[in-house]
Amino acid sequence: MRGFKSFADKTVIEFKNGVTCVVGPNGSGKSNITDAVRWVLGEQRVKTLRGTKMEDVIFSGTKHRKSLGLAEVKLIFDNTQQFFPLEYDEISIVRRVHRSGESEYLLNQMPCRLKDVRELFMDTGIGREGYSIIGQGRIDEVLSNNKDERRMLFEEAAGIVKYKSRKIETEKKLKTTSDNLLRIQDILSEIEDRVEPLRIESERAERYIELSEILRNIELQAFAKRYTNCEQSILDVFKNRAEIQDQIKALSERQTDLKKDYDNKDSALYGINQKLRTLEDELHEVMNLESKTLGEKQLMIEKISNFDSNIKRIKDEINEVEEHIIKIEEEKNQQLRERDEINEKRNSLIARIESVSLLKDEAL
Ligand code: ATP
Repeated sequence: MRGFKSFADKTVIEFKNGVTCVVGPNGSGKSNITDAVRWVLGEQRVKTLRGTKMEDVIFSGTKHRKSLGLAEVKLIFDNTQQFFPLEYDEISIVRRVHRSGESEYLLNQMPCRLKDVRELFMDTGIGREGYSIIGQGRIDEVLSNNKDERRMLFEEAAGIVKYKSRKIETEKKLKTTSDNLLRIQDILSEIEDRVEPLRIESERAERYIELSEILRNIELQAFAKRYTNCEQSILDVFKNRAEIQDQIKALSERQTDLKKDYDNKDSALYGINQKLRTLEDELHEVMNLESKTLGEKQLMIEKISNFDSNIKRIKDEINEVEEHIIKIEEEKNQQLRERDEINEKRNSLIARIESVSLLKDEAL
């Protein structure tokens, strides 16, 4: 036992040949040992285990110790005498229950069902209802006048419980079978009423089958015809396919040629593009030059117009100077004329002076 009721720690009790007595004061846990045996043998009634719920079998803790989450009991039988019909010298049954409610049974360390455990102990006297465990107060039951309780104990001891439970199961099956038979009889009488309509339906069905057969033959012929047509179509398609394949081949060759041509033209185009780019560059340069030349031309035009206006201005000045010269010439001529006049006058004066002088000399 481990974690079972008051047995928090692993506790092993060996039952040897003969009588084993467990002695202890009230409440020390003696009955918990039989509870453990009952429990591992598949006891489901919590009341029999002196609890209110299955969780009560798990160690619930004491003042000095925390509760546990798992209760486990293992019962090991010496089977060297083949008491159990199993080829093992030792038979062990384990039952575990977790506080979460999960539980499991193991038979020789292999997981098994409660049913397997029960069947193993049936008619051995060890089972849940066996006479091997007679708890406090059960002696009264044995000695009581209740026939059924006494009978159960003796049946278990006589080893007929297995057969009895099989009998009950078989009787249940028989009941189900006889219910089924009744149901079948009901169905049969229902079916008998339907025989005539079914006969008519069957004749119709036969006619249907006949007609279906005819239809099937017609369909088969139609299908055969369609098949032949299809075959012809397939042949045509094959022929067309061959032609198309030839065309594809020709087209593919043409495509190759065109591709070559395309590549050539593409590389020529590339060359042309290169040239075009060069020409564009040159044009760009020329345009630059042109715009530069235009600027210079504009400058020249402005300079020429400047020169023109300068020339005009100089011509005007020349005209002015020429007019001035003419004026000066005229003044000069006037002065020359005046000089000549003055000279004439002077000469006449000189002549008069000379004549006067002569006269004077003469007078002298
Ligand atoms: P009596 O002779 O009076 O029948 P007993 O020796 O058979 O007594 P039990 O009735 O087997 O004793 O054990 C009762 C003891 O087991 C109590 O002390 C109780 O506290 C303890 N016990 C029962 N269930 C648990 C549990 N789940 N966790 C811890 N202790 C438990």
